[in-house]
Amino acid sequence: MEHGHAEFTLLIPFLVFIVLATPAIMLLLVRRARRSGSWNNNGSSYDGYTDGGEAEPPEPDGFRYDLLRLPLIKRMMKHRAFQFALQLPNALIFLLVIVAGIWGTTLGDKNFATVVTWLVWWAVIIFTFLFLSRTWCMVCPLVSIAEWIQRGRLWKVGNRLFTLNRKWPRRLRNFWVPTVFFIILTWMFLNIGLAENPLYTALVSIILFIAPAIVISMVFQRRTFCRYVCPIGGVIGAYSMTAPLEIRNRSDAVCRSCKEKACYRGNEKGYGCPMFMMPQTMETNTYCTMCTECIKTCPNDNIALNVRPFMSDLWKTRKLGIDVAMIVVIMLGITVFQTLSMLEPWTDMSDAMIDATGLSEHVVLTLSYLALGVLAPILIFAGWSLITKYLGGRKVRFRNVFIGFSFAFLPIALSSHMAHNLVHFLEEGPPAAVPVISDPLGWGWNLFGTANLLLDPLLTADPLHILQMSLITIGYVGAVYAGWRVARETFGNNLKAVAGLAPMLVLMVVFAGLNLYLLNLPMSMREHGH
Ligand code: SF4
Ligand code: SF4
Repeated sequence: MEHGHAEFTLLIPFLVFIVLATPAIMLLLVRRARRSGSWNNNGSSYDGYTDGGEAEPPEPDGFRYDLLRLPLIKRMMKHRAFQFALQLPNALIFLLVIVAGIWGTTLGDKNFATVVTWLVWWAVIIFTFLFLSRTWCMVCPLVSIAEWIQRGRLWKVGNRLFTLNRKWPRRLRNFWVPTVFFIILTWMFLNIGLAENPLYTALVSIILFIAPAIVISMVFQRRTFCRYVCPIGGVIGAYSMTAPLEIRNRSDAVCRSCKEKACYRGNEKGYGCPMFMMPQTMETNTYCTMCTECIKTCPNDNIALNVRPFMSDLWKTRKLGIDVAMIVVIMLGITVFQTLSMLEPWTDMSDAMIDATGLSEHVVLTLSYLALGVLAPILIFAGWSLITKYLGGRKVRFRNVFIGFSFAFLPIALSSHMAHNLVHFLEEGPPAAVPVISDPLGWGWNLFGTANLLLDPLLTADPLHILQMSLITIGYVGAVYAGWRVARETFGNNLKAVAGLAPMLVLMVVFAGLNLYLLNLPMSMREHGH
């Protein structure tokens, strides 16, 4: 079966499930709250938003297991060469991407740069956010090179830094720059065929990533690039909030009495947090790149590497600003639009718009992308937040409803994005990746004897299709639960929370249903996206 082929027989049961599951899940959650005796209290509220203030983090809820209790893991994390050992192979692969992109064949499916970057790395990396938080950032070759230059060392600690050590402008200390870059990056997939073009792939890697990473690290402090500029940093930061892994302090009391604050300032054992964070006040995974420096530097052995329940951060967002929330909302729209732009109905709609307006295909695609993929989800979500604020009946600020509930939609955005990427990895990835390992530049080499191997996809279209639909459905169920937790935090633990949540549940059904529906439409012969 061709991917995206009409299988409406499957769509109906999935749609019926998400509609019927919603009241059932709500009933279970309300009953559980009643039994626990927490029903009818006012709970906490977002009125205490601090946006990065120094408030103490709330007590973690749910299971935690500190992996640093295992001596082998602790020894690895404390070893200074640990991060470097993971960065080095990635850096070499990245250099090969640049070389192959510039000097290799122009055929996208035969070039190491396009195949490894878009069919393997880009397709798989999203799964690491769900399971391993921002661990990718710890091993990221793009900034590793910049960091080695800035520190003048590969892994040892030194006092001399090769940077002007300037502070990033206050107005830009947020995710707005990464969001704009991400919108541009996605536009390149849609409009200039970035994923199929080796030269563009190399140029984007240089111009959007490695060059700014090096320049910024030589002018500004620490990993300013990762925190405030990286085009995928915002998306990684948001998605990683769902991961069952976190780095946090063990005891607030120990941190309060700690004068040294080596986790932030650094000491002879390691560098101060490259992401400008203090584990003492860290509530979410958003900015922590899991670099393990604080595990090395803390003189009080007060850092834990916890395994925890999935999605634990999604209702602890009082310190996050509208910039992070906006990324989640935009991702909902971009994922839908990217899928839409690869379908047959879109080709018909686009042709009709071109005929009616006389504009070129690229202009129509760009305007539609900005209108439907970026602007529409923001306006829809803002309208829905207003209704939610009104129905919740508490004096909660609109801004706080918008921010709080946006994170409840994160599981839908993430699962839809993963469903989209599964095709690239499970269907297209291995058959293309194994040959290019032997012939990375498409010059007719056969280094490892795999250049002419014809591999089957890891999964055929039918089970892949069911897997995609199941992923979106699981994301939906996660969103309903996260929405329930956000509603209780926002409106209190009572009927007002249910009333406030109700319109958001409708919107969740719409977004999840739309993603399921689009997966069942036939693919266009004129594909743009990736
Ligand atoms: S150095 Fe350790 S104890 Fe001190 S503030 Fe940082 S995490 Fe807490
Ligand atoms: S130093 Fe600690 S808190 Fe900072 S990014 Fe690294 S692991 Fe995260």
